[in-house]
Amino acid sequence: MAKKNAAAQAQKDNKKICKAVHQYSNEKISGEDMERLLDLAKSCMVVCNYVYQRYGGIKSLSKLYPGYTVQNEMTASGLREKLNLPTVYFYPAVFNALREIKTQWAHVKRNIYVAINENDRFTPEEKHYLRFVIKVGGCFENIVKGKPVQVPEEMAQKYESVVSGLQGNQKEHIGNLNRYLCRQVRKKLCKMHTEKFLYFSVWERGYRYGESKDQKGHDCHGIFLTTKERRKRIFIPLTDTNQYSGMLDIKLKPEKGSIEIIASVFSDIREHKDYTNEIGISLGLWDMITTSTGHIYGSEFGRMQKEIYDYRVCERRAYGKESGAPPRKKYIARREKMEETLKNYINREINRMFAEEKPAKLYMAKLPQHPGGGNARYLLRVWKKGYVTERLKWKCRQNGIEIVEVLGNGLSTECSVCGAYCEIRGQNRYEDFKCKNCGYEEDRKINAAKNALNRGKTGRQLNKVFPEEQSPE
Ligand SMILES: [Zn+2]
Repeated sequence: MAKKNAAAQAQKDNKKICKAVHQYSNEKISGEDMERLLDLAKSCMVVCNYVYQRYGGIKSLSKLYPGYTVQNEMTASGLREKLNLPTVYFYPAVFNALREIKTQWAHVKRNIYVAINENDRFTPEEKHYLRFVIKVGGCFENIVKGKPVQVPEEMAQKYESVVSGLQGNQKEHIGNLNRYLCRQVRKKLCKMHTEKFLYFSVWERGYRYGESKDQKGHDCHGIFLTTKERRKRIFIPLTDTNQYSGMLDIKLKPEKGSIEIIASVFSDIREHKDYTNEIGISLGLWDMITTSTGHIYGSEFGRMQKEIYDYRVCERRAYGKESGAPPRKKYIARREKMEETLKNYINREINRMFAEEKPAKLYMAKLPQHPGGGNARYLLRVWKKGYVTERLKWKCRQNGIEIVEVLGNGLSTECSVCGAYCEIRGQNRYEDFKCKNCGYEEDRKINAAKNALNRGKTGRQLNKVFPEEQSPE
């Protein structure tokens, strides 16, 4: 029976989505207790740096997955005893550091990936080979460690075909390409180190929610945290009576005498039985989302972004680098407020789109992975656009909506009715799309959204057509 329940639970868990929630301490934490917390955080920082130093390099790459080796070695290292750090803090610190190392490797791989794509000296076959060995498990690690490449059995045939595409002396050719990879890794892999000691994580066994007395002697709800002293737990009153489980992240704010607790909760994916439509969308810098049904969501998006941008420029001129004066607090507060307002607006408009369009599937163009250009104005917008896609993807997951990326090339220059290619030259963004072939006229963004829908529906989906173009991880 219990087994059956567990299975049912596991199945249910698949339909859940993880979300971070925050809790706050209610009264100023005594200096003594804050010292204890800071001591824990400092020890965790030591653990973190130890892990960075020992496992952050090329030699340890194969130990990172799945991580048991690191855990065992860390247990054997004696560091925990030396620091007198309870296991409930020690292992989360180890795993946090490991996660950071893995993140750095993912960044390194992605950066090399981009560098390869942008390098004109490589032939398409060479690029193909390099992308292949970065992605396929076992290849990258061995190359970086200077060992012979080991391809998993099921990929052996693919590997042969990739290699056979290389011209000339293959062995020499592969050697050169592998050496290029090693150089790139050495160039891009940084030594990791942290000076941050205001943050640590605790396992469930290390805390307990409950009632106790605050400093004034009143009964209140709070959390008991394990300390380095035997059987001594710190009690911290909280502003709410929520109780969470699993690992908690604790952020210390010693100057305020407060802490913030970050817990993960799993909330159910909302099921919308009435969401049955398939919709194409087009993202824009001015109108945030235009749908294939002809509706616009986030029509204030561009104006709000420009307002923030102008405010930044204005303030930078007066107080920024050029004048040498530090930015004013008032300015920072106002800018943060504006950005917060924009973020709320973005979220609200995405929700509104879901409620009105009722989509089961959304098709959208794949965004460029590595936007070029160093124009500040451009980058600022790209950042907000990044926020839009990130929120869109997250909200789609939360609402059980499938989001499918389609190839973006020519999306706005193709006629969504007859498929003719109509380049728009010298047109401004207010001008409609006009087809030279069939005479179809439509708002440019709506035409693009319709193309996204067409491409999605006819299976011209990026992940199916161009699997090798996807970046690793
Ligand atoms: Zn046409």
